[in-house]
This record gives sequence, C-alpha cells and structure tokens, in this order.
Amino acid sequence: SIILKNVMKTYKSGEVETHALKGVSLEIKEGEFIVILGPSGSGKSTLLNVISGLDTPTSGVIMYKDTELTKLSEDKLTEFRRNHLGFVFQQYNLLQNLTALENVQMGSDIGKAPLDPEDILAKVGLKDQMHKYPYQLSGGEQQRVSVARSVAKNPEILFCDEPTGSLDEETSKQVLRVIEDLNRDLKTTMVVITHNPGIGAMADRVIKMNSGKIEEIIENKDKISAGQIQWG
Ligand code: ATP
Ligand code: MG
Repeated sequence: SIILKNVMKTYKSGEVETHALKGVSLEIKEGEFIVILGPSGSGKSTLLNVISGLDTPTSGVIMYKDTELTKLSEDKLTEFRRNHLGFVFQQYNLLQNLTALENVQMGSDIGKAPLDPEDILAKVGLKDQMHKYPYQLSGGEQQRVSVARSVAKNPEILFCDEPTGSLDEETSKQVLRVIEDLNRDLKTTMVVITHNPGIGAMADRVIKMNSGKIEEIIENKDKISAGQIQWG
C-alpha cells in the first residue's frame, strides 16, 4: 500500500506562497480504485504529483511498502517511477511519427514484466487500428493508445489526471471502461482525478479535496461500471 503522512506542499513564486496541500494523510491499498474530486485549485493535481514522485512535497512522508519516496535521490526517484508507475494526462502526448503499436512498444520496453503491446491494443479495442499514426485516430482512440502505452509496462499503479477531460461522453466511457478492465483484470491500483462526480461511482473510494485538504473520504458500497455512469 501507499501511505501518506501529513503531506504538505507550498509553492513559492517570488513573494507569493500558495499552500496547495495543508497536511494530507491517506492510505491507498493495493488494487484499489481511487477517484479524486474537488473544485479547481483544491490541490488535486498537486496531490497526484507528490504521491507519484513527479513533484516533491514540502514536508511529510510518502511510503510505498518499504520504500520511503520522500528520501530517494532524484535518480532513484526517476527509476522508481519508470519501474513501478504509469501516467495518463489530459493531453495524450503520443509520438506523432510513430504508429499506435510503436507508441505502445515504447511503453512496454520500459517495464520489468511488460505486457504484450498487441494484446494491450486489443484490450483497448484498437487491434484493427494499431498501424495507424496518431493523426489518423480520433481523440478517444488516441487517449486509448495513451492508456495502452502507460499500461504496457504493467505498472503497479496508474495515475490519471483528468484522462477524459477533453473527450465527449461516449468516448470518455470507452476510456473509463479500459481503466476499469485493467483495474479488474490486472489488479492495477488506479488513482484518477476527474471533475465529473459521475465517475466517482466507479471507484472503491472517493477522496474529496477542498482548499488543500481532504474534506471527505467516501467508501463506495455500490460500485458501478463505466457504462452505467450518469454524465454531468
Ligand atoms: P484543477 O481542477 O483546476 O486542475 P487542481 O485541484 O488540480 O485544480 P492544483 O493544480 O493542485 O489544483 O493547484 C492547487 C493550488 O496550487 C492552486 O492554487 C494553484 O494555483 C497552485 N499551484 C499549482 N501548481 C503551482 C506551481 N507550479 N506554482 C505555483 N502555484 C501552483
Ligand atoms: Mg488539476
């Protein structure tokens, strides 16, 4: 599991200090599906970035099993991220001069126990389109390639910051279905930020952020699947 103890993050730009995280404590269990909700500026992305080692907290402790993330050197942290963690952002960031398959192969080259790129593309419903370049794919298809690439190295945890932020409802559901399948079939721990409260219904637990703090943690007893989400 991942344990956060009293994690704080203060950004300084010139004279201005922003207390983006004001003491967050949390345990994320293996295989859990966590959704983070909260208003704009409440610290969701900051939380995801410090949990995943993309950014360092100002104070507090972050533990992955017996690894204390907050004590790793820059190099070790980069290595840890490469070996254990996957990321999906709102922007797909696919390499434009590579096909879908080649993009996913790049992802699988990294992992210690990578998955077969073609299998993963089949799983995200793109087996027939794997030789296309990003510009030949729709937004939703590109995001599914991006999820496939992140997952190809078989990360223990997949961090997603508004993965459906720029997609329409139907396409969003396709992408969420892929994330749901991976959580169920591969037991990948999911940490997903969204603005859509409907997506929270898919989660095991919903973490509500408000002005740099956890306002509420909701255990979801009646988890629904991506296809059943009520939008908006
Ligand atoms: P959104 O829903 O709009 O993405 P968020 O909940 O993800 O919002 P964060 O991006 O975590 O919010 O930002 C939390 C606070 O920290 C905000 O007040 C923001 O202005 C500030 N902040 C974020 N990144 C930086 C930075 N690099 N430098 C200075 N302040 C920052
Ligand atoms: Mg954000």
